[in-house]
Amino acid sequence: MSENNDGQRVFGDMPAGELVEYAFSLIDSAVDPDLAIEQLMVRMTAYFNVDIIVVREKTERGAAIKCTYEVSKNGNVKLKGLERRFLGNAWSEWDERYKRGGGCYKYKKSMGESPMLLMREDAVKSLIVIPFYNDGNFKGTVDFYDSENERDWTDSEIAEMKSISDIMFRYMFTLRSFAEKYEDLRNALKKDALTRLPKVDEFIKYVNDSISTDKNMDYVIISSDIANFKYINEKYGYNTGDLLLTKFAEMIYRRYKRVVSCCREFSDIFLIAIKCKKGESAENVCALVDQCNMSFLEEIKPITEDTNVAVNSGFAFVGDNELTVSEAITGATAARKAAKDMTVLKGSRSKAYEHSMIASKARTLEMISHCDEAIEKGQFQVYFQPKVRCDNYEIIGAEALIRWKKDDGKYILPDEFIPAFENNGCIVKADYYVYEQVFKYLRERLDKGLRCVPVSMNVSRVHLFNTKLVTVVDRLLEQYKVPVELLEFEITENVYLDRLPAVMFTVQWLRKMNIRVSIDDFGSGYSSLDTIAKLPVTTLKLDKVFMKDRLDEKDKIVISAVVDMAKKLGMDTICEGVETEEQKRFLEEAGCEKLQGFIFSKPVTMQEFSRMLEIE
Ligand code: C2E
Ligand code: MG
Ligand code: MG
Repeated sequence: MSENNDGQRVFGDMPAGELVEYAFSLIDSAVDPDLAIEQLMVRMTAYFNVDIIVVREKTERGAAIKCTYEVSKNGNVKLKGLERRFLGNAWSEWDERYKRGGGCYKYKKSMGESPMLLMREDAVKSLIVIPFYNDGNFKGTVDFYDSENERDWTDSEIAEMKSISDIMFRYMFTLRSFAEKYEDLRNALKKDALTRLPKVDEFIKYVNDSISTDKNMDYVIISSDIANFKYINEKYGYNTGDLLLTKFAEMIYRRYKRVVSCCREFSDIFLIAIKCKKGESAENVCALVDQCNMSFLEEIKPITEDTNVAVNSGFAFVGDNELTVSEAITGATAARKAAKDMTVLKGSRSKAYEHSMIASKARTLEMISHCDEAIEKGQFQVYFQPKVRCDNYEIIGAEALIRWKKDDGKYILPDEFIPAFENNGCIVKADYYVYEQVFKYLRERLDKGLRCVPVSMNVSRVHLFNTKLVTVVDRLLEQYKVPVELLEFEITENVYLDRLPAVMFTVQWLRKMNIRVSIDDFGSGYSSLDTIAKLPVTTLKLDKVFMKDRLDEKDKIVISAVVDMAKKLGMDTICEGVETEEQKRFLEEAGCEKLQGFIFSKPVTMQEFSRMLEIE
């Protein structure tokens, strides 16, 4: 240390008072807090002209003291990480020493044998130990060593050592509590909040780790879901739904032997990884899965009372056909979906993955990869299916339905490509293409002064994950200036159940714009009219499932009640999939105003539809 022209003590080119400032600036900008502390300690050695500075902290359990940081001018670090136990009344003896020394302990070699425990004897000519207390509790010390000179420290030096040590300790504690909270947060993010199970990526990691450490076993991935879970949620409330999910998670650990890991993939779908002996048969795994599923169902019986709950499961062996863990998840998922078509055996359906199940996956991928090309080449076509008045077949509207005509002239039906498109966002492009064609069609007819009827467009569930639909419709309205009375959007019942707040936002916006909104496929899912009534929709569209070949008395009662209740809720009704005179007559009787179905017309091209309007 030297003095500058103003008589200030300096360290390098840094005036004395700025050591504290330097400490704060380091702390502020620290990316790696440990590094920041050591950097500060390096400056302190130079500033106080000592060889070594050591930070020691009382351990959590309190019986020992541990060296947590150590810097030495010659790079010779000896104590870091070392822990020493304090025996007997050592703590109080040290307290006494600090008190006697005016808040520190000063030592010089000439004083004779040192009472220090964790001492760098090699480096001691002089030593000063500054203790740190928090709320009156001893937390640790900062020790300054001089290996060359016996020093008489001035009061101002000691005061500076105290204040910089104080800053350092406080910074360390703040950091630690932040790090703990951060760790808690990280852990929380890694876990599913409801079941406390790990998230999917953690699950995959555990399974992979386990496979690489124990190669003498086979590994099976099981995918399970609670059938009709949405219905259960609706019937018993979300709290009960949550309770069932928690119970399922508990069952996994209790019932499955040799669980490697498990997670809730999403909603009511669980992934379970188990170990089994090499060459285990699919039949045995099936039996185990059924057993576990049934024990879960037995346990929840008192909760679900009169409802028959079922669990669907699919599983795949990791390594079979070279399946990786992720591929086995896909395989197990495909098998679970296939299991849904099986008859229920005491509430559990389980199926092993077969290679053919993925064949459809290849087709899905192929369709997805051709989506952009299909738009560019104009392979998507928009067909209109007329909607007619029930009593006189007058065309009062149309539904726009997409068709994909491949270059070879073959058609792919929407039921095949839409689910594939929904999984990767292609559907958004396809839907906007349809909307644009509808707006264009209406604009052209309006410009020509021709008769127009309202056209409804289907809204994929994917749109409801964000608010883009609103932006796009807004742009189309701006561009084509089509009167809102000519527009309608159809949202399927299942979408509504999944995403209430998002659907609410979109529906409210459309209604604010005076655009009609209908609930499509009502009756194909599990929502009740009661739930539907919460949405300000204008129309209820009864699904084809109501249109059985022969309507028995029960069917008729249900249809009449639905139409009646919809009316009471201020909605009008339309029934789709009407094919027979009998169905039509009954709908008219029941008071359903509109119908759509092959009885009047199949979906036709726009030109054909225009001709139909002109003939009327
Ligand atoms: P949806 O919206 O419920 O459309 C009605 C479906 O019923 C259409 O099938 C239609 O051709 C069919 N249909 C109409 N009348 C009858 C009948 O009397 N008997 C029978 N058996 N079926 C009839 P399509 O065109 O194959 O469409 C299937 C589904 O694909 C649609 O169901 C809709 O959910 C979806 N879809 C179609 N076009 C689009 C689109 O542009 N965007 C979106 N997101 N989905 C679309
Ligand atoms: Mg529809
Ligand atoms: Mg429909």
